[in-house]
Amino acid sequence: MNIHVARPAGTCYGVERALKLAREAAREAHKRDSKAPVASLGELIHNPQAVDTLRLIGVDVAHTLEDLPSGENSTLIIRSHGVAPQVIRDARERGLSVVDATCPHVARAQEAAEKLADEGFTVFIIGEPEHPEVRGIRARAGQDAHIITGAADLPDPDTLKDTHVGIVMQTTQTPEALAEVVEALRNRVKELRVVNTICSATTKRQQAAEALALKVDVMIIVGGHNSGNTRRLYEISRAACPRSYQIETAAELDEAWFAGAENVGITAGASTPEDQLQSVVNRISAIEIPPRHPGLDPGSREAETTGDEQDDA
Ligand code: SF4
Repeated sequence: MNIHVARPAGTCYGVERALKLAREAAREAHKRDSKAPVASLGELIHNPQAVDTLRLIGVDVAHTLEDLPSGENSTLIIRSHGVAPQVIRDARERGLSVVDATCPHVARAQEAAEKLADEGFTVFIIGEPEHPEVRGIRARAGQDAHIITGAADLPDPDTLKDTHVGIVMQTTQTPEALAEVVEALRNRVKELRVVNTICSATTKRQQAAEALALKVDVMIIVGGHNSGNTRRLYEISRAACPRSYQIETAAELDEAWFAGAENVGITAGASTPEDQLQSVVNRISAIEIPPRHPGLDPGSREAETTGDEQDDA
């Protein structure tokens, strides 16, 4: 059985950076005081195993600022999705030490929204209304900002004909979603300014997963069941390869999935650390697959990686 790993796959630049900042924050805080509270506001990444690993080094999860004792002995880590500026102000008012791990791509979307609002544009944010990243962008996009999931959510263009409209995107949106909204507004508003804040990390993972899924018999997608981008990778893979399975850990693998398979593809969501991906590769490599025809050699088992991570960072 040949194993192919999509590239890129697994943690993106922003998640990698947030993990590094969290580890450093814990190390620094515990150097001063081994019992110093350190926590991310919400789970640092959408991956239960990685969150458990962080707990082992003393990085807990705070659901509200009040979950941490006030004072600078407590460290609050802002995750890569970012937050509204008011949250950071409130944390500082409570005297907390704040480590801001907002991904620079997300920060760029927040800044773009604020600049558009300052210049008099009515800002439309294309994204998932309840997603923390979108809430953080919304908080800087001015009073009149709207969150839309696509062109269908736009108000009647006649009501916008005298409006200067600015568009920014949740970083995980697709170029197609942007094109659809731009097309719906083109020549129907006073001015249309688009700041493309899509992060290519997501698109590249999706393209690599689809390209691989088209070529293999079975596709395995590794990532948190609570991770939206992993779920999307699964959907894309399944459309190209019906024998696609999403798992969080190698323990969920079922040998029956690989019956008769000659080529297996593996990809992982942007919040799946490399060690989790590698353990799935190792586990699949160890599976004994009977040859499709008795007497034939089942083939090689080498894991293949193609290309390097090329995320913009
Ligand atoms: S997907 Fe892109 S924007 Fe989101 S955390 Fe990763 S690098 Fe940053």
